Amino acid sequence: MFYSFILGIIIGSFLNVVILRAEKEEKITGRSYCPNCKKKLKWWELIPVFSFFILGGKCSECKKKISWQYPLVELLTGICFALTYNRLIQLSFFNTSLNGPFGLNFCLAALFLGLWLYFVSVLIVIAVYDLRTYYILDTVLYPAIIIAFLSQTLFSVLAWKKLIPFFEQTGPNFLGLGQYFFGTFNFPINLIIGVGFYFVILGILAYGSKGRAMGYGDPKLGIFLGVLLLWPASLIALLLSFCFGGLVGLITIVLKKKTMKSYLPFGPFLALAGFIVFLFGDIILKGYFKLFS
Ligand SMILES: [Zn+2]
Repeated sequence: MFYSFILGIIIGSFLNVVILRAEKEEKITGRSYCPNCKKKLKWWELIPVFSFFILGGKCSECKKKISWQYPLVELLTGICFALTYNRLIQLSFFNTSLNGPFGLNFCLAALFLGLWLYFVSVLIVIAVYDLRTYYILDTVLYPAIIIAFLSQTLFSVLAWKKLIPFFEQTGPNFLGLGQYFFGTFNFPINLIIGVGFYFVILGILAYGSKGRAMGYGDPKLGIFLGVLLLWPASLIALLLSFCFGGLVGLITIVLKKKTMKSYLPFGPFLALAGFIVFLFGDIILKGYFKLFS
């Protein structure tokens, strides 16, 4: 878990570069530099989180303040990576007794973990970019939707053919929610309903309001989350994102930072709710059924 946190802050530092260079339409490659004086950064100025504090939050050359976004995104990515690793470990991942340390089970589990760390990174980039610019970053989102679809299909088929021990019961719907609704897990149906819910509801809000209540990019982000979470977790995540959005909207109106008409990007709420359901979906649903039974 500690190593996944360290990996997270290093990847987070890269995500900052992706976000800022996408905004300026620059290439990803090339050395990092100060956006103010263009000074190329030395190695000790490139250490995630620490460099920001060593430098006192200022460029060593021109003394211009460095954005708090850098250490915050790095820390956020570190925390999200650690939580993702912890979540997947709960599912008897990396149980080497299943077929040895580098057996099929181990390799597939490592692939699955790697893919989820990538999906979480995509959510962070899209959420931060949406906060900054009010746009959903399609160049990052589209490939992620395709990779998510291929990954979910692959692991679903492997589970269906009973090739991986840890998925035997649930398939990629490891949130363990499917059995509450259909008795058994059915990947194509859960995928279509899961994506459909997000896309139809967000689509109606976006097109019905001509982009005022909901941006046109949000239904596309919904497709990504629907593929990852599947029905019925997708419905819980969607409801949760409306709760978060409504709550923050109310707070900002009360604090008079924004008026009723001003726009609040919805992507960060979708991403946050999706991630929370990924982490705690089964606990949320079990608690709900206990409450009303
Ligand atoms: Zn500078």
